[in-house]
Amino acid sequence: MKLIHKAYRFRLKVTPEQEALMAQYVGVCRLIWNLCLEQRMLIYNSSKKSTWGDQQDVEITQLRKEYDFIRQAPSQVLQSVTDNLDKAYKGFFKGNTDFPIYKKKNKSRKSFRYPQGFKIDNRRIFLPKLGWMGFFKSQPIVGKMCHVTVSKHGNYWYASICCEVLIEDQPCADTSIGGDMGVEKLCALSDGTIIENPCSLKRSMKRLANMQRQLSRKMKGGMNYIKLKIKIAILHARIADIRGDNINKSTTIIANSHVMVVLEDLKIKAMSKSAKGTVDQPGKKVKQKSGLNRGILDAGWGEFRRQTGYKLDWRNGILVLVDPKNTSRKCSACGHTAKENRLTQASFVCVKCGYKSDADVNAAVNIQRAGHARLACESSGAVIPPEAGTLELAA
Ligand SMILES: [Zn+2]
Repeated sequence: MKLIHKAYRFRLKVTPEQEALMAQYVGVCRLIWNLCLEQRMLIYNSSKKSTWGDQQDVEITQLRKEYDFIRQAPSQVLQSVTDNLDKAYKGFFKGNTDFPIYKKKNKSRKSFRYPQGFKIDNRRIFLPKLGWMGFFKSQPIVGKMCHVTVSKHGNYWYASICCEVLIEDQPCADTSIGGDMGVEKLCALSDGTIIENPCSLKRSMKRLANMQRQLSRKMKGGMNYIKLKIKIAILHARIADIRGDNINKSTTIIANSHVMVVLEDLKIKAMSKSAKGTVDQPGKKVKQKSGLNRGILDAGWGEFRRQTGYKLDWRNGILVLVDPKNTSRKCSACGHTAKENRLTQASFVCVKCGYKSDADVNAAVNIQRAGHARLACESSGAVIPPEAGTLELAA
């Protein structure tokens, strides 16, 4: 048996009064985050001290006494802000994440968290200071509830309920697979399977690009500008839903069918380098020109990797990450590496042995091999070739 964390996200049915309060809590949390972050940076610069204990929580309590609008936000919600900041600092000092940044009103995620104090009865949820509200219960909630995060996406508010769930140890499949993430398609697998982005996603992204073009022609701040902005926000939320759903379903299938999954290591940031145009990844550079909204799809890659990782972990499988260098130029039949192998975006033809393949599937086979090379070196103690990348035991 294994204890896992699972999040259930439901759309909330909120009254205008509740909505106004929620927007206010988001604002107070952002203010507290920015104040605490600034204070920590000042203290660190003068004394190199990076631990705070409960000092900031005490100061927040004082602020609550002095300022009405801060007092209106639930105290445990404000405490979770300093908890988040602690986590962000720990992540940074361990080298896992970037240094925390200031939150901006229109750019940052609109959310706040209740670590305790909430209640759920069938189709209603109670949140301290907001009261009871209904939600669209799309699936049953299983496990012990830990905390609730309230967030706004597009025009709607959502509650993410994090639960501890005990799952049976699953019998593991014994096969491995490699995957090449793309823009036009979500992922190509080394067994030849192509996971497409849903047609509805492509349609919505085209509409989004259109709307963004229209927006640039509207007078900033005018009524038409604001109306279009709202439409864009709603479409963004819809795109996130479609994409999230596709990633969720496909990573479940992949993690359930294989004991080892090999993906490219995004930390190496070959993607963003190739956007500037290195000679090493001509394929990716062509993809970059394909006109789709890259930022949205880029974010999907990280999520795909994250979900594959934890779903494999539930089944005692492993995720291996490898260096993306040369994976798209190397022939998976004879090993010949040349940029001439990639004549077009979609097809791969080896100039040495004549092997033909879908370009992304060829890359996926190379990725899978690099993963095996990595594992073989780990267990034999041999020197790890650079293309074998890093091993990530999904955490
Ligand atoms: Zn070849």
